[in-house]
Amino acid sequence: MNLQLLGREYGFSETFLLPNAPYEDWARHHKGGAFHSNTDALTDDPIGTYPWANACMICVRAYEPFEDPDIVDAYYLASNSAYHAMKQLLDRLKQEGIRAERADTPFRTQLLQAGIGSCMDNRLWYYPPYGTYVHLEGAMLQLPEPVEYSRPQHNEQICDHCSLCEKACFGALHEGSFDWKKCIRAYMENLPMPEEFLPKQNAFLGCSRCQRACPKNPLKRIPVPDHVRKAFDPLRIIQGEYSEAIQLAGKNMKNKLIRQAIILCANNNLTETLPHLLKLKETSGEKYAKELQYAILCLQNKKNVIK
Ligand code: SF4
Ligand code: SF4
Repeated sequence: MNLQLLGREYGFSETFLLPNAPYEDWARHHKGGAFHSNTDALTDDPIGTYPWANACMICVRAYEPFEDPDIVDAYYLASNSAYHAMKQLLDRLKQEGIRAERADTPFRTQLLQAGIGSCMDNRLWYYPPYGTYVHLEGAMLQLPEPVEYSRPQHNEQICDHCSLCEKACFGALHEGSFDWKKCIRAYMENLPMPEEFLPKQNAFLGCSRCQRACPKNPLKRIPVPDHVRKAFDPLRIIQGEYSEAIQLAGKNMKNKLIRQAIILCANNNLTETLPHLLKLKETSGEKYAKELQYAILCLQNKKNVIK
């Protein structure tokens, strides 16, 4: 079976097949707290966790960023659709008699360790022609034959350390180092957004400033589709009309989207949302207290300035 062709059937631009190999460096850095808590679910010991597997299949879902960076980060929409595509691909592999299970492993590290792609100064994985505009999905497989993989001789270094990403960043990238605790993207899923970042959020689900600033990335942008723009309207979301946004971003995103909508009402100066935010404050208890306090105060101050 040609897994590259099969991956394409499910919308993946590239599919890589690697041996189930250990990655001690990643495990050591992980134990030392170098990565954010979203990585805690990943295994430090792939061979112990998947003793039956003889291959790790990593699939690349490439996406095109939106022209307007202030609505929603296209990455998360690609990530959600790739998640569902991978589920279907796993079902297909099982039908073909191949044992296959979603991999909880650090795909980027595995690819780099195998000499595939390049790590940029913004700490993202780069693969031509997509640049860093990719989402990775992976699965452990039990194939009839073990994977033979020889590391490419030349793992090209793409980043020229121009520091444009660092200049565009809010502080996570500094003099060649990366501090995930200062990266807005780290707070888009499970961790609460620290107060100092609230004024910096400009879009739902992410920050792509370091990618947009990178001259090595593709320049192509696509318009935000009308249905996406409508789904990610902060006013609609704080009024409870979040089902379309959840469909695009993922089932588990409801509370995160409401939190981010509240912040965006303030950061986009949507003074007309103030009565709705006050109403939400009455009905939501402590759930969004920090974000509501921030947004209501910002918009009340804004209204006073306008008067
Ligand atoms: S995602 Fe945003 S905050 Fe994080 S490193 Fe890139 S520019 Fe900085
Ligand atoms: S902006 Fe420059 S330094 Fe940053 S990742 Fe791109 S090439 Fe490297």
